[in-house]
Amino acid sequence: RLPVLVGAVLLEHHSFQAITFVLDNSARKELEQRKDDFISMASHELRNPLTALKLRITLLHRQLAKQGLQAAVSALCSMETQINKLTRLVEELLDVSKIQAGGLEYAQEWVELDTLLREIVDTIRQTNPSHTIMMRGAVQTSLLADRDRLGQVFTNLLSNAIKYSPGAETVEMDLSASAETVTVRVQDHGLGIPREQRDKIFERFYRVTDSRQRAIPGLGMGLYIVAEIVKHHGGTIMVESEVGKGSAFTVTLPMRRGD
Ligand code: ADP
Repeated sequence: RLPVLVGAVLLEHHSFQAITFVLDNSARKELEQRKDDFISMASHELRNPLTALKLRITLLHRQLAKQGLQAAVSALCSMETQINKLTRLVEELLDVSKIQAGGLEYAQEWVELDTLLREIVDTIRQTNPSHTIMMRGAVQTSLLADRDRLGQVFTNLLSNAIKYSPGAETVEMDLSASAETVTVRVQDHGLGIPREQRDKIFERFYRVTDSRQRAIPGLGMGLYIVAEIVKHHGGTIMVESEVGKGSAFTVTLPMRRGD
């Protein structure tokens, strides 16, 4: 009788463990779902008042400029800059939650990559006088893609290259093309990324744990969105990096999606 009894006790013990495990798992999943729902609702709730605020400030800006009130106009300009920063954060939060909920929506149009990249580099040069961006090579080609989303990819890579290279003023962007693909490489000479964390930086909310990196503000959303957009366009993204020497992100896109 003893082995049977022991068996029964063991069985009971195991199924108890199994139930606890199932409860743990479903409780965790529910919590995870609630967190995703919260991010989605929070980003919507934050976006609406921000849009209204931005509109009011733009109108006020125009009125004050007409009246020649220069001091008030420059105060409003710095408010606009802060609002734009906040808006970008909220948009990223919204993108992350859309990806979680099934994906972003994409337009499809012919995009002249060269022109798009030159526009992005011009804008970034204006807002980041601390760094020199060198653009090398050219690709005389159009891609069937979502222009804004592709723009988001390269704006993000360039902004990161600048952000994570304090004191290393040069960032290079190299363009090249083969018969079937175009390649854009963004290289900086900044902090670099430790080897064991290189794959993780494309995960949602992941930030490198190094204290110098942590001192730089960010929420770990940009590269997660970038990787998603590149994947949607049938491309790849990879990173090479050395701590203390810099990082290079290479995006390769097919000339025509679906060919
Ligand atoms: P964020 O910069 O807002 O934290 P990202 O998703 O753009 O989020 O990047 C994820 C992490 O990858 C960053 O927190 C940073 O630690 C690291 N990282 C990204 N780009 C670079 C770069 N060019 N050089 C060094 N580290 C980088």
